[in-house]
Amino acid sequence: MYIGNHLSSSKGFEAMGKHAIELGANTIAFFTRNPRGGKAKEIDPEDAKRFLALKEAQKFGPIVAHAPYTMNPCAAKPELRQFAKEMFADDMRRMEYIPGNYYNFHPGSHVGQGAENAIPLTAEMLNECMSGEQSTIVLIETMAGKGSEIGRNFEEIKSIIDLVQPKLQGKLGVCLDTCHVWDGGYDIVNDLDGVLEQFDNVIGLDRLKAVHLNDSMNDRGTHKDRHEKIGKGYLGTDTFERIVNHPALRDLPFILETPNEDEGYAKEIALLRSLQK
Ligand code: FE
Ligand code: FE
Ligand code: ZN
Repeated sequence: MYIGNHLSSSKGFEAMGKHAIELGANTIAFFTRNPRGGKAKEIDPEDAKRFLALKEAQKFGPIVAHAPYTMNPCAAKPELRQFAKEMFADDMRRMEYIPGNYYNFHPGSHVGQGAENAIPLTAEMLNECMSGEQSTIVLIETMAGKGSEIGRNFEEIKSIIDLVQPKLQGKLGVCLDTCHVWDGGYDIVNDLDGVLEQFDNVIGLDRLKAVHLNDSMNDRGTHKDRHEKIGKGYLGTDTFERIVNHPALRDLPFILETPNEDEGYAKEIALLRSLQK
C-alpha cells in the first residue's frame, strides 16, 4: 500500500523523503511552490538525485506533487491565465528532476463566465504547456464544486480531457479526492461501487492514478470542501476501509490532506495500513 501526506518541500527533496519515512509513509505529496504564492525555489539536482536513490531503496510509490492554489487556468482575466501557464510550464520543467511522477492540479474557477466557457481555457493551458515527451503524468483533481470551480463532476473532467491533443493523452490522468466527490454529491459512503462505475463509464478507470484521502466536515452535496480527519467526518472509518481495499483503488497512491500535524498523520497512516487486508 502506498500512503503518505503533504510535506513541506522547503528543505529539499531528500529531507522530504526522510520526513516521510519517519511518519511511516511510502509516498509524498508536496506543493511545487508556496501554495498561495507564485515564486518557486530552484531545485538542487544533487538533492533530487539523492532523493531518487532513497525513493528507490525504500520502494516508494509515485510522488503526487500539487500545483499552487493560485493557479487558475480558466480565469476570466487573460493576465491570470497567462500567470497560470507560466507557473504550470515552469513546474513541468522542474518535475523532470524527479521523472515519472504525478503532478496534480485544480482545473480552476470560471468566476462568472460559466463552466462551458472555462473548460476550453483549462484545456488550452494543458495543450500549450505540456509536451508529448515529458515523463510527468498530469492529474486533474475532482473538485467539490465550491464557488465557481470546474471539475465538479466526472462529466466536466471528461470534457477537459477530450479537448487535449492526442499526443498528450497518455500524459493525462485524474486524482480522486474523497472529500471533494462526496461534497460534489457522489455517495461513496453507501455506494462506492456505483460511483466508481460512473467514473469508469464517464472518464474510464484507466485514467485514475491517485486518491486524496480526506474525510469531510459536511454532508453529501454541500459543495463546501472542508477536510476532516479520517473517521471524524461524514465519510467515517468504514468508508475508508472500503476505499483502501477496493480493487480499483488499492494499488494507487493514497495522499492524506487532513487537518493534522506530524503525530496525527503518523496515526492516520498506521490506521489506514491496518485497514487494508
Ligand atoms: Fe487539491
Ligand atoms: Fe485534494
Ligand atoms: Zn479540498
